Amino acid sequence: MEGIVQGVGFRPFVYSLATGLGLSGLVGNDVDGVFLEVEGPPPAVEEFLRRLEREAPPLARIERVTATGVPPAGAASFEIVASGPDGRRRTLVAADTATCADCLRELWDPADRRYRYPFINCTNCGPRFTIVRDVPYDRPLTTMAGFAMCEVCSAEYHDPADRRYHAQPVCCPACGPRLALLDATGHPLPVTPDSAWRDAGRLDAAGRLDAAGPLEARGSLDPARPLEAAAALLRDGGIVAVKGLGGYHLAADAASEDAVAALRARKHREDKPFAVLAADLDAARRLCRVGDEAATLLASRARPIVLLPRLPGTAVAAAAAPGNRDLGIMLPYTPLHHLLVRAAAGPIVLTSGNVSDEPIAYRDADALDRLAGIADAFLTHDRAIHIRTDDSVTRVFHGRPMPVRRSRGHVPEPVAVSGGFPRPVLACGAELKNTFCLAKERYAFVSHHIGDLENAETLRSFTEGIEHFRRLFDVDPRVVAYDLHPEYLSTKYALDLPDVDLTGVQHHHAHIASCLADNGWPPAGGRVIGVAFDGTGYGTDGTIWGGEFLVADYAGFERAGHLAPVPMPGGQAAIRQPWRMAAAYLDAAGLDPDHLDVARRNSGRWPAVVSMARKGVNAPLTSSAGRLFDAVAAILAVRDTINYEGQAAIELEQLADPGEPDAYRAATEPAEPFRVRAADLVRAAADDLAAGAPRDVIAARFHNGVAGLVEAGCLLLRERHGLTAVALSGGVFQNMLLLSQVVARLEARGFAVLTHSRVPCNDGGISLGQAVVAAARDRQATAGLLQRGWADPGRHEQTDQPDD
Ligand SMILES: [Zn+2]
Ligand SMILES: [Zn+2]
Ligand SMILES: [Zn+2]
Repeated sequence: MEGIVQGVGFRPFVYSLATGLGLSGLVGNDVDGVFLEVEGPPPAVEEFLRRLEREAPPLARIERVTATGVPPAGAASFEIVASGPDGRRRTLVAADTATCADCLRELWDPADRRYRYPFINCTNCGPRFTIVRDVPYDRPLTTMAGFAMCEVCSAEYHDPADRRYHAQPVCCPACGPRLALLDATGHPLPVTPDSAWRDAGRLDAAGRLDAAGPLEARGSLDPARPLEAAAALLRDGGIVAVKGLGGYHLAADAASEDAVAALRARKHREDKPFAVLAADLDAARRLCRVGDEAATLLASRARPIVLLPRLPGTAVAAAAAPGNRDLGIMLPYTPLHHLLVRAAAGPIVLTSGNVSDEPIAYRDADALDRLAGIADAFLTHDRAIHIRTDDSVTRVFHGRPMPVRRSRGHVPEPVAVSGGFPRPVLACGAELKNTFCLAKERYAFVSHHIGDLENAETLRSFTEGIEHFRRLFDVDPRVVAYDLHPEYLSTKYALDLPDVDLTGVQHHHAHIASCLADNGWPPAGGRVIGVAFDGTGYGTDGTIWGGEFLVADYAGFERAGHLAPVPMPGGQAAIRQPWRMAAAYLDAAGLDPDHLDVARRNSGRWPAVVSMARKGVNAPLTSSAGRLFDAVAAILAVRDTINYEGQAAIELEQLADPGEPDAYRAATEPAEPFRVRAADLVRAAADDLAAGAPRDVIAARFHNGVAGLVEAGCLLLRERHGLTAVALSGGVFQNMLLLSQVVARLEARGFAVLTHSRVPCNDGGISLGQAVVAAARDRQATAGLLQRGWADPGRHEQTDQPDD
């Protein structure tokens, strides 16, 4: 039996099922998953097989059951046998899972021995991926190895009838990890005896904290009660670094304008929204509009951050998500978070423990070092985090989840891919929001969020992550896929690998292929129209693409249309300073900018930037849709410079009036590939602005105009190629106003529209796209070689090279 069947209570389930049916035999874990032998009357065995899949434990995911007849062994009873010896490793490791209802009941039960214990877990919940060092998934190979079980825990662990049977992280206050509260410099705080708490009226006679009691101890740092002291500090406006499941978070009282502003200032994070931890669904509903699908996502075992429309007049500080109609909400996913948010008596901001754009801190010493200037105290513990895993972020689109970041709670669960992988593949991903992907047979293991590959630490996470996944899933990649951008660190890593077949995958082709794989598009499903709109991707002509209409299947693509290129004056500087794109676009539109505020605001450098654009000096050409949004955002005074990736476009979307029906129009030059004169939209926006039209109306007409040009492009390609399916991908489609307009227009025209629901449409989904492209080429090459009747195992394949 293969699938996610280890560490999820599968053997005790089999045990009770078999003994209940009066069967004898055995069950155990091996490298392939779970093996079992049953013997007894044939009807009972048949019943057993039927119920085996139907009644499997909640976290189990059965991928394959193989059954063969064996001679009866004459066993008298049913037994659970020890794990088999190591060898090939195929078992799937489960993702970290939110605290289950049974554990929560115990957590809040004063009579339970794990009452208020922050590390309560069982076979149905708790840490998995973040604590696993190696497979098979057994306690000695997790970060729980150092905690010897007490007698009571050990009895539970060995009792097949117990919910904690073989729950590897099982522990209790007597034998498991403990919380500690450290001061801002990382030193343990002096101990205040329980008597002081009792005197303060906060402990009952049994020594338990009265959560509803008075708050005299507010602000006191009492390491004997680390959790309550941390909560008191939060209520007092302090900032606490909290060691969670996949790394350290920074927490602050979400209602306190001062605390949230201080967190922003100390973290050097000017505008990017913070997520908010709400105690439960009711608490979430007091902050945001929570539809049924969103409620399901919030309460799901993965417990992602869900982006939701915020309600007016809530207690959440404006500084939590400045200039944003949405708020990212999550519910507690570990006992520690349950305890903390309840003790804090209100929602708390919970944001990655890092400075600026660094990766989230997850090792204790590193966290203390890096967060020392930010946190007033550290709520930490002695269970190590083996692998850094950020929170997942998602939203709801048309009743389905639409992931923005796929990480904790989902990783390393594989994405099943139709057609599979003829040979094992490593796909190295892109540069920003990097993920990598290891794939073999039917599975693509898309990694956790690695981050922006632009410093030594993320690069180390990338290389170490690949090694970790190779061991966990026993994948020895023979084919390695990479982005064509020669300067991406992921590309350089790929090109340095010895003894593998390399295959370069164009960035926007990877986006479209990831959307196809996300939708289970069959390998023989034929070509689709791919609309890939994003910020930056290296084109096969060496220019920067990003407003692309492709005709594509898994194996290849043709650039069928694109936005007419404009110069990016100053290169990277134009990404950080959208007003430069305004200058380039207004110049391309032949518009005199003198009467426009954006030119006045930047008058000092405007002429130089325009001349840079005209001469093409340090002004690479781009067809990027992201830069088009930047230009209009700057013209509408939304933003001249940005503080995080995509900010100008995000705020432009927020500005737009969704009720505005009119749309600007862009002409299409019908050559092949066709070119869309996006500068027409910019001119229309500038003209409307000069004529005194409201900015929210202009922003909406621009969005509608972009949706219109996508529709027009798809209609033209349907005419030219007879294709009726459209795949939408690329980071620009995180813009919900644009996405819903585009989908509505295309569906009204009779197109089948594919959007993302399993991996992000942004660059976090690129690695999956690269992997399926590599597999398709591998299948083609194998088929071709078989036809010719020979095989060359040393084939070195490099396709789509820009200099070809
Ligand atoms: Zn549980
Ligand atoms: Zn114990
Ligand atoms: Zn991209």
